[in-house]
Amino acid sequence: MLSLYVHIPFCKTRCSYCDFYLVTRTGLIDKFFKALSLETASRSSSLKGQTIGAIHFGGGTPSIVPVRYLVEWINQIAALCCMAPDIEIALEANPEDLSHSAMDELRASGITRLSLGVQSFTPEKLLALKRAHTALESRQITALALKTFESVSVDLICGVPGEHLSLWNTDLQAVLALQPQHISVYMLSVEPKTLLHRNVVKGAITVPDDAVQASLYELALIELAKGGYIHYEVSNFCKPGHHSRYNLASWKREQYLGFGPSAHSFLVSEGKETRSANVSSLTRYIAHPEDAEGFCEVLTEDERYTEQVFLSLRINSGLDVEFLRKENKLGHRLSETITRFEQQGWIKQLEGRFYLTENGFLFADLIAGEFIFG
Ligand code: SF4
Repeated sequence: MLSLYVHIPFCKTRCSYCDFYLVTRTGLIDKFFKALSLETASRSSSLKGQTIGAIHFGGGTPSIVPVRYLVEWINQIAALCCMAPDIEIALEANPEDLSHSAMDELRASGITRLSLGVQSFTPEKLLALKRAHTALESRQITALALKTFESVSVDLICGVPGEHLSLWNTDLQAVLALQPQHISVYMLSVEPKTLLHRNVVKGAITVPDDAVQASLYELALIELAKGGYIHYEVSNFCKPGHHSRYNLASWKREQYLGFGPSAHSFLVSEGKETRSANVSSLTRYIAHPEDAEGFCEVLTEDERYTEQVFLSLRINSGLDVEFLRKENKLGHRLSETITRFEQQGWIKQLEGRFYLTENGFLFADLIAGEFIFG
């Protein structure tokens, strides 16, 4: 089974915290889709004979493109390979782009899952994040999406400048009242070269410190568990059966093909695992869609080990104890490290696998780092 990702690199404006590859020249949408079709045709040998289990339109903001472009591309894929009967076709969308008729059109085009960039249900946070929708739209559009799609995911951001527990709890209670099938919780991250970063460096704004961030995350763990959500990845929570198929496949190191500028791919052939990425330039992509790859590497044994440990510990299916012992990079210190993490209450062992505890999720990268580098 193969998953597909399409990076649609257009947004109307750039949010203050965003460092994704995107452009605001929406006049290039038509040229982008012509290039996407050429890139897809040029990769038909990788698609031939494959069954596609999930397609994910990410961005950027896929909801700003006319739906007919998405339909044409899905049809092109369907002609090149086999679509699983229960395929998940997910689309990332911003509330301000969606109306009743826009959602009906998306559903009729074959989109099965909508991933909504709500980010907050409070006016204060939406203003701080410079989002284009209102708190009322956050609620109304989520409610409408739940009536239209069988699976709806809501993205929330916590840790915005000035955020405290009670403001974050307002967001959590608002999303729990709506009961979407999936919720993603992201801690606001201050990325270099963003407006947010410049403002933090100037001292114009401050973001919550580590202790506050930890308490916000802990509150999410408690409230979402009470609301019946399964915590299946560090930042992701779902009702049974509603995990993101594309994302889970990538965390489980299953194969996926990425299309569009800056999209990544992971393929396995004849025992070799290859990671590649397209160029992060729409201009270059449009000019040479059949030669869009900007980077490609075959993973070494050490890189495979690093990925396996990092990614397995992030998800609730955990890390194989035998794998860790067999590939042991820490020598005699491995047992010591395991005991320490178990005593700290960060990991638990069950039926031959290590799992992070809810406390351990706070330190997922640190724990994986110690298993890898000591
Ligand atoms: S809408 Fe999403 S992708 Fe676009 S600028 Fe904002 S955060 Fe980035």
